[in-house]
Amino acid sequence: MISSRKNKTLLIDTEAVSALELLKDGLLTPATKLMNKKESEDVLKSGLINGQTFPFPFILAPSGNMNHEILKSLKPGEEVTLLSNDEEFAYLTVEEVFEIDPKERIIQIYGTSDLSHPGVDATISRIGTLAISGNFKIINNKISESKRLIDEAKSKINAKHITALMMAANPLHRAHERFIRQTLDSTDLLVIFLLKPYSETGLDFQIRKDSLEFFINNFLTKNNVVIVHLENSYIFAGYNEIILDAIVAKNYGCNRLTIGRNHAGLGMFYDSNSDKSIIDKMVGIDIEITVASEYVYCDKCTTLVSKNTCPHGQHHQISYHSDSILELLELGVLPPTLLIRKEISAHILSKLFPNRFKNLEKLYYDLLPVEGLLEEHTEKDFYLELMKLYQTTSLT
Ligand SMILES: [Zn+2]
Repeated sequence: MISSRKNKTLLIDTEAVSALELLKDGLLTPATKLMNKKESEDVLKSGLINGQTFPFPFILAPSGNMNHEILKSLKPGEEVTLLSNDEEFAYLTVEEVFEIDPKERIIQIYGTSDLSHPGVDATISRIGTLAISGNFKIINNKISESKRLIDEAKSKINAKHITALMMAANPLHRAHERFIRQTLDSTDLLVIFLLKPYSETGLDFQIRKDSLEFFINNFLTKNNVVIVHLENSYIFAGYNEIILDAIVAKNYGCNRLTIGRNHAGLGMFYDSNSDKSIIDKMVGIDIEITVASEYVYCDKCTTLVSKNTCPHGQHHQISYHSDSILELLELGVLPPTLLIRKEISAHILSKLFPNRFKNLEKLYYDLLPVEGLLEEHTEKDFYLELMKLYQTTSLT
């Protein structure tokens, strides 16, 4: 597509669009602009912008030969159009074009350039050797939907204290539920940032959102919880995730961020000799960060317990590993209800395997106690009824 302004054009991908939108909405403050060379160097040296922690330079360096040629030709003060998916996204007034080392950039973001590290391979192909700085104007700049939802929820219950929680809920299991409930207990409003990934791994976003909504609407005081999307682009990659989460949560007006003990980013920051983590090293970001305990199922306590308070040791405990629970679901196995709520399993299986049964009615009548002949049954209902049979305690 050719720019309507007869500008030169740069092609950027949806991850860059997402990061630029967050920046424009003020959600990445203290980062408020695309940095030039000097500003980038300052952040690299100090890890700070205006005295506040920011993990890496906020720059735009799109890859590709065409982009490279255009970037080389741009002059300060010239306007360039940023295109994404064949649509005009923004107009940028060039301040400076400068060289960067893509490999260095990867290390700044991921803490490693190891190609086997999740995300590194995909990101390295997105980064070019020239970065561009300058002010930009987003063409269809809509007010952040998430911001609106949070403000609405806040004023509805006149919330004074707001806690943020980031999760993928892939899938939503019992330890997540406990984590949510525990967090809600000590705050007025809980904002769950449901992470929307860019790669197509795991459950569809809508299925994860449905599960979370089902749980909130049926098992929590629902006016105290709001779900918003957070596009989980490369800037949130492993190494810096907690810092970026804290910055975004704070800019959305949250007073506290709670993270799980088994948070992927957290372990990396605990250096081996002390309990000092990245959290203690953050400067000037005015948000309280708490680390929740890890919940496990203990077969001696016969319930979900915090690992800190159950004395029975690992051989009695089941940890909640989302990836393994997801594997059961993806193979079509109905997980035990101590791992995942049956209504949620039933919903997920009915979405993952639509119309899998040749003759659902026959299965119903043959295997289940059914009342009337004319009842209509869905596959979701079938899983729920089947679960009742699994839970029947005679003849075990
Ligand atoms: Zn126990």
